[in-house]
Amino acid sequence: MEKLYGGIEAGGTKFNCIVAANPDEIVVEETIPTTSPAETINRVLDVFRPHQGSLAAIGVGSFGPLDLNPASKTYGYITTTPKPGWQFTDLCGHIRTALGAPIAFDTDVNAAAVGERVWIQQNNVLDPFIYITVGTGIGVGVIVNGKPIHGLVHPEAGHMSLPHDLQEDPFAGNCPYHRDCWEGLASGPAMAKRWGMLAEELPDDHPAWALEANYIAHAIANLVYAFSPQRIVLGGGVGKRTGLLELVQQRCLAVLNNYIRSEIILEHIEDYIVAPGLGSRSGSLGAIAMAQNLGG
Ligand code: ZN
Repeated sequence: MEKLYGGIEAGGTKFNCIVAANPDEIVVEETIPTTSPAETINRVLDVFRPHQGSLAAIGVGSFGPLDLNPASKTYGYITTTPKPGWQFTDLCGHIRTALGAPIAFDTDVNAAAVGERVWIQQNNVLDPFIYITVGTGIGVGVIVNGKPIHGLVHPEAGHMSLPHDLQEDPFAGNCPYHRDCWEGLASGPAMAKRWGMLAEELPDDHPAWALEANYIAHAIANLVYAFSPQRIVLGGGVGKRTGLLELVQQRCLAVLNNYIRSEIILEHIEDYIVAPGLGSRSGSLGAIAMAQNLGG
């Protein structure tokens, strides 16, 4: 077997932990509910300890915001998250100290973007490459020249402003910072608040889905204008809803309105905005790819 790596997708509701050489050689896979930082991290460490001696490196893709600046005193921390108890948690430091392995650290969406690009697209020339998650929150990972964009902090495209027709959709939005940004209008919790039931309980023929597709399509159009991506993956708990992807593709075509003269968009939108090839493992296997990239 090839070298083994650890992968952690750290989410607000669960941590997906994986020990693997690649997607076809998964040794261990465990899901841990996200509770307090101390309890959650201890349970994560319990998953990896039996393999401690054989892990070349560990990748961590986490919910944020994160400090990704290696020169910063709080590098590797989850910083100003609204999640109770998790503000300024030294996620990487605890794991590095306990397991003694080098750590690759990035946002959960950047990890998922890396995973889809490395394992499904074989690192090919699809660049820029974008991964979107629509679930409890909305996040966007953008890969340019083979690397996730970090910049000042990291992109927060889930909070972009979108056209919001208050006649059609009087819901004010639920983002604590911007109210009716993309996440405030279209995350799972926003849908639940607007319609009075959980997104997964909304029937297929509910008007919620056309509205949801409309917001996602406007956001994707903005991403297309801004980054000219060669492929967009739509993932996440809401994003994987049966039928939503097709609604988004069609609505996106209408929003773009033939402006972007690219054959894949105009004639093969189903190959342009796609579902995650790794299913629910984009993040955890992306963390494995990040660990491999460390060269360990
Ligand atoms: Zn917002």
